[in-house]
Amino acid sequence: MALIVQKFGGTSVGNPDKIKNVAKRVLKNHKEGNQMVVVLSAMSGETNRLTDFGTEMQEIPDPREMDVLLSSGEQVTIALFAMAIKSLGKDCISLLGDQVKINTDNSHTKARIQSIDSDHIVKELDGGKVVVVAGFQGVADNGDITTLGRGGSDTTAVALAAALQADACEIFTDVEGVYTTDPNICSKARKIDRISYDEMLELASLGAKVLDIRSVTFAKKYNVPIHVRSTFTETEGTWVVKEDNKMEGRIVSGVTYNRNEARITISGVPDQPGIAAKIFTPISDADIIVDMIIQNQDTGNGLTDLTFTVPRSDYQRTLQLLQSVAEKIGSKGGVQGSDSIAKISIVGVGMRNHSGIAATMFSILSKEGINISMISTSEIKVSCIVEEKYTELAIRALHDAFELDKESVPEEENVI
Ligand code: ADP
Ligand code: ASP
Ligand code: MG
Repeated sequence: MALIVQKFGGTSVGNPDKIKNVAKRVLKNHKEGNQMVVVLSAMSGETNRLTDFGTEMQEIPDPREMDVLLSSGEQVTIALFAMAIKSLGKDCISLLGDQVKINTDNSHTKARIQSIDSDHIVKELDGGKVVVVAGFQGVADNGDITTLGRGGSDTTAVALAAALQADACEIFTDVEGVYTTDPNICSKARKIDRISYDEMLELASLGAKVLDIRSVTFAKKYNVPIHVRSTFTETEGTWVVKEDNKMEGRIVSGVTYNRNEARITISGVPDQPGIAAKIFTPISDADIIVDMIIQNQDTGNGLTDLTFTVPRSDYQRTLQLLQSVAEKIGSKGGVQGSDSIAKISIVGVGMRNHSGIAATMFSILSKEGINISMISTSEIKVSCIVEEKYTELAIRALHDAFELDKESVPEEENVI
C-alpha cells in the first residue's frame, strides 16, 4: 500500500463538475489500494476575485484580514470535494491548515511553513478515509490563519509529502507537465520527461509558474520527487528529480518569461562610496524586492547611472521613494523607468560547461530586431530585459534557434 499526495490546481477544480471528476480520479487510485492525501487550490479566478474585494474595502488591505479572506477559497473546494467523495460511497474528511497543523511564521500573505504535525492526517488515513487538505494556508503560533503567497498550494503538497514520507507527490494541472517553454505561448513547446531540481528552481524563479518556486525548494531539501501532470489526461507528465549525468547533455533546457517586473533608472549620481546604499536602503526598508541591478561605468565626469528592476506592483511606490532620494544625493539626471518590460531567460545545467551561450542568445534577439536593455547571468541561466511587446517573438525565436522542440540535440549543434 502506497501513500500518495495529489494536488489539483485552480482550473482542475474550477467548478462543481470538475470537482466531481477529480473525486472520481482520486477514488480510482484509492481503490487500487493506496492511501490518498489530496491538496486543493481555490477554484480558478477565486483568489483574484477575493483579492479585489479586499482592495475595495481598504486601499492597502490589512494583511491579517487578507489571510482570513483569501484562505476561504480553498475552504470551499475541500468541502465540496469531501462531499463528492462521500456521494461516491467512500469516507473522506476535509482539513484546514490549522486542523492539520501546518505551522507557519506570522508573515501574513507570504508565510513560510515551519513544521507540519502529520498525526491527525495519519490517524484519518489509518481509519480508511480519503483526506483532503486546503492548500495555500497554515496557522501562526498565535492561532492566526496565514497564507503562503500566490501559487502556494504546490508548496503545501510537497511539504505534506515530505512530512508524511509519501511514496509519490503528484501535481495535477492544466498542462501535461513542465515544457521547454510555456505551451500556451509557443505551440512548439515540448514536454520535458525529467528535469533537475536546480533547473526547475531557475525556471520557476524566472517565470514558469507551473510549479511554485518554494515547492521546488522543499522538494530539493527533502528529496521528494515531483510528478507534474495533467488532470484531464492519463499521460505521464514530467518528473522533477535530483540531477543526474544524463541531464547535462542538453545545454539549454527551457525558455521563460516574466512580465511582472518594472525597470527603474536613476541617472547622473555621484560615483562615490555609499551611493548604492543610499539608493537601495529606503527601497529595502519599504519591503520592495530588487532583482537585477546594473551600474554604468563612470565615463570621466564623476557621475554614474544605476538601473534595476522591481516587482511591477511596486513600480509607482519605488518611483516615488526614489524622487526624494535623487534630490538628496544630487542626481543630475533624475529618475525614469518603464513598467512595460519583460524578462526573457534561457536555463540549462549544461551551461556550466559551455561558453558562448549568452552571446548566442544576444544574436538571436538581435536578428529579430529586439533591443536588450539589461542582462544578468548565473551558472545555469541568462536573462535579458526587453520591451514587453516582444515577449512572444523572443520566446519563439529562442525556442526555435536552440531547437528545443527536438528531443535531443548533439552538443556542438546547440551553439550557433
Ligand atoms: P494550477 O492552477 O494548476 O496551479 P498554474 O496556472 O499555476 O496552474 O500553472 C500552470 C500554467 O503554467 C500553464 O497553464 C502554463 O500556461 C504555465 N506555464 C508557464 N511556463 C510553463 C512551462 N515551462 N511548462 C508548463 N507550463 C508553463
Ligand atoms: N489559490 C491560491 C492562488 O491562486 C493558491 C494556489 O492556487 O496555489 O494563488
Ligand atoms: Mg499554480
